[in-house]
Amino acid sequence: MENCLFCKIIAGEISSEKLYEDELCYAFYDIDPQAPVHFLVVPKQHIEAPAAVTEQDAAVVGHIYAVIAHLAKELKLEKGYRVIANSGEDAGQTVHHLHFHVMAGRPMGWPAG
Ligand code: AMP
Repeated sequence: MENCLFCKIIAGEISSEKLYEDELCYAFYDIDPQAPVHFLVVPKQHIEAPAAVTEQDAAVVGHIYAVIAHLAKELKLEKGYRVIANSGEDAGQTVHHLHFHVMAGRPMGWPAG
């Protein structure tokens, strides 16, 4: 989608520190990390937000969770990790392309935010 930051990153028009890519999704390190390990996994298809996910997107969303589990193993995140998808203003969503934050490397507080 035009003027979407993450669509431009996926297309290679804006540089990113790529971690993983396949036909459905793209993973890259967050530019402003909030934990020792902080990367984002995004679907290649443009979906505005978690609130815009439909049954048609079930396969890609499930696939992304499997990719996250695979990357967590590769990065040896044995002590655990947190996956967060912000939706809308109150949640603090700033980029309007569905993305899953994966954070690790320190104990995470609860409740989040
Ligand atoms: P959210 O606030 O949930 O919408 O998350 C958006 C995330 O995208 C933030 O954690 C930003 O630091 C991150 N971000 C913004 N621009 C870039 C970029 N060019 N490369 C990597 N991460 C980015």
